[in-house]
Amino acid sequence: MQLVFATNNLNKLKEVKTLIPDHIKLLSLEDIGCFEDIPETQNTIEGNAIQKATYIKETYGYDCFADDTGLEVNALNGAPGVYSARFAGEQRNSEDNTNKLLNLLEGNTDRTAQFKTVIALTINNETHTFTGICEGKITKTKSGRKGFGYDPVFKPNGYKQTFAEMDLKLKNTISHRGKAISLLVKYFNL
Ligand code: IMP
Repeated sequence: MQLVFATNNLNKLKEVKTLIPDHIKLLSLEDIGCFEDIPETQNTIEGNAIQKATYIKETYGYDCFADDTGLEVNALNGAPGVYSARFAGEQRNSEDNTNKLLNLLEGNTDRTAQFKTVIALTINNETHTFTGICEGKITKTKSGRKGFGYDPVFKPNGYKQTFAEMDLKLKNTISHRGKAISLLVKYFNL
């Protein structure tokens, strides 16, 4: 069976490739000749995941899954949430986004936050969603060089390192995306 993972984010592709069993052939957007920006205009994480997966199915005809992820910070009433990628502006720069987050939380004792990933799967003209959540805290400074996005400022509960200080294998075991992917894999093992 072959499935498209609808992402242009090479970090996500790398994470997900290690989690998908061999009997599923994972295709990238490049593999199917998709070089356009996929619409992502909904105002919920779930809505965006469904929009991306549906767009690929309708435009290119492939069974497909897409993920959308947001960081929800309690002291900011759940922001940046669905707007995590462009938190600091349309340039969608991770360095700018994490700096803005640290500035907004300066002096705040409530550092609790969670990453939420929704994976939408379109297959046989049906759409299914799988949600993974990872709770943790926003650190006061950046730490670590691995991972991507907000990883240098997110410390999952129960760990002393930020995601950016962890090997990919450990991050995948506990992360929002890892949990959502394992639900997706379970669906195919049914
Ligand atoms: P999107 O799902 O690609 O739209 O990601 C939204 C934002 O969250 C982007 O700024 C990403 O860099 C960030 N992001 C997504 N997944 C992760 C992750 O696993 N760790 C840290 N940041 C992430």
